[in-house]
Amino acid sequence: MLSYQHGYHAGNPADVHKHLTLLAVIRRMHEKSSAMHYFDTHAGRGWYDLSGPQAQKNGEFHDGIARILGARDALTATSQEQLWSAFFAVIDDAHQRPPSPQELRYYPGSPAWVASQRRETDRHTVYELHPTEHDELTQVDSKKTGFVVYGDGLQGVINHLPPKTPRLLVLIDPAYEVKDEYTQVCATVSRALKRCRHAVILVWYPLLPAARHDAMLSELQQLDTPCIRSEFIYKERTETRGMYGSGMLIFNPPWQLDTNLKEAFMPVQDLFEPPANHHLDWLNADK
Ligand code: SAM
Repeated sequence: MLSYQHGYHAGNPADVHKHLTLLAVIRRMHEKSSAMHYFDTHAGRGWYDLSGPQAQKNGEFHDGIARILGARDALTATSQEQLWSAFFAVIDDAHQRPPSPQELRYYPGSPAWVASQRRETDRHTVYELHPTEHDELTQVDSKKTGFVVYGDGLQGVINHLPPKTPRLLVLIDPAYEVKDEYTQVCATVSRALKRCRHAVILVWYPLLPAARHDAMLSELQQLDTPCIRSEFIYKERTETRGMYGSGMLIFNPPWQLDTNLKEAFMPVQDLFEPPANHHLDWLNADK
């Protein structure tokens, strides 16, 4: 029984970390004109209304997208100006004008971030198992979004590989509601890379006191595929309290992605009090 609904967390610092990374990967991949197929194994509902009861319950977006929006001028004056401008353009489009942090109302989920960048020749497949979220996702105007919706993403993506397009990007973003999901993610990444060695695969994971992600990273480190690890720590780590940061793995990262991410997150650190910490390395540098 699935209980997680992303609406309670939409637009939080972990979402900004995940979606800016996704956008940076897509933009790098678009430097080549060959068609891509995007697979989003855990799509959520596609769009989030930040004025709704879920987002308002804990107001997590205040620390994330609202804080980032408040620093728009500073972020778009950095070395990653183009990446940040592309990021804010998606938020502006959703509001039909650049919103101030106080006017912020809509936050795009991963299917919407991809849809905002997708080119005519690209294909887009998304998966969502939660019945309410799945219904919401299918009700989004399919002409506008252009994606096809299925159910179980972990098995589904394997069934759909290899795609017909020369290149592919897979985003794996589970809620990790059950411990098993860490093992399932490892199995899915490994099977996907067996079918498509060149697949660019993004995996999101939470940084929690129990550190269950450690075992997942150790297992994924054994794969013979280059992989960047980007971790964003925005809260103090304690023994008992919840998530203190978020992690992203990027298998087969596009050229210079590491520089883009390092430079893009550097100024974000000082927007937090105490300052957040962005750390980037190669997961399997010694292989
Ligand atoms: N990727 C979304 C975004 O960035 O906007 C957020 C996804 S949320 C963290 C995880 C979602 O995965 C939930 O909506 C949950 O219902 C869904 N889910 C859980 N297990 C799934 C599975 N096996 N296949 C597809 N969706 C699943």
